[in-house]
Amino acid sequence: MMEHKSNPNNLTEGKIPPIEIKNLSVTYRTEPALWNIDLKLPEGKMIAIVGPNGAGKSTLIKTVMGIVPITAGKVSVYGKSYSKQRTKVAYVPQRGSVDWDFPTDALDVVEMGLYGKLGWLRRPNSKTRKIAKECLEKVGLEDYSDRQIGQLSGGQQQRVFVARALAQDPQIYLMDEPLNGVDVITENTILSILEKLRKEGKTIVMVHHDLQTVDKYFNWVVMLNRNLIATGPIEKVFTKENLDKTYQEKQRVSLR
Ligand code: ADP
Ligand code: MG
Repeated sequence: MMEHKSNPNNLTEGKIPPIEIKNLSVTYRTEPALWNIDLKLPEGKMIAIVGPNGAGKSTLIKTVMGIVPITAGKVSVYGKSYSKQRTKVAYVPQRGSVDWDFPTDALDVVEMGLYGKLGWLRRPNSKTRKIAKECLEKVGLEDYSDRQIGQLSGGQQQRVFVARALAQDPQIYLMDEPLNGVDVITENTILSILEKLRKEGKTIVMVHHDLQTVDKYFNWVVMLNRNLIATGPIEKVFTKENLDKTYQEKQRVSLR
């Protein structure tokens, strides 16, 4: 049976970090997009990934789910490979990377998020439909469930993908710029949903563009520019010095 309950105490997961990355490098063609990253992300935090365009932020998130080839290193999700932990992770892709023309309505997009949990042989049913509807309601889109996904505004599309992630009821939310191009109301809706999840012990990892709001929205930061520049609690590492290092023209890859 599929459970749709949260596990606030995460008793079975102990102190193993939700995400641990060791010596990770990714090279798509000739130049590395990520170089020798070592990173442990803590549980129950709102974590921002910041860095300039091309810094490898999207790549970093994708390596967690094994959707880009890793050149060297290792990524674990609660101490195991992602393939053993896929139901613990939900992903909200960057908006530009989604084909909005596919003939699917908002409710279907949310419900499809549940297929991974059901297994491919199980069919969507009245229960999955109900969960999908509830999640659309949480993001304020109950009136748009049969709207074709391409005919929603940018902010509404983002909310559909947030609803889809909610339906999966994961421990870890990986979100690639979910606040990009959304209006203030949508931004606040998404943030208050995420803050509630964080208080339940979920971990939210978000690529975030707006440096002005990092200290307001997040507890933890990953400052990235192909190399890992700094990571830790906002008040400790989100400093001018680290920002300067992160946003330098182009980080030279430090060869060992
Ligand atoms: P960010 O999200 O920080 O803007 P990305 O992770 O998207 O950065 O990209 C990092 C670098 O890797 C960029 O130079 C980008 O052009 C390159 N890159 C990303 N995806 C691919 C891909 N599928 N094939 C080849 N190069 C890629
Ligand atoms: Mg990106």
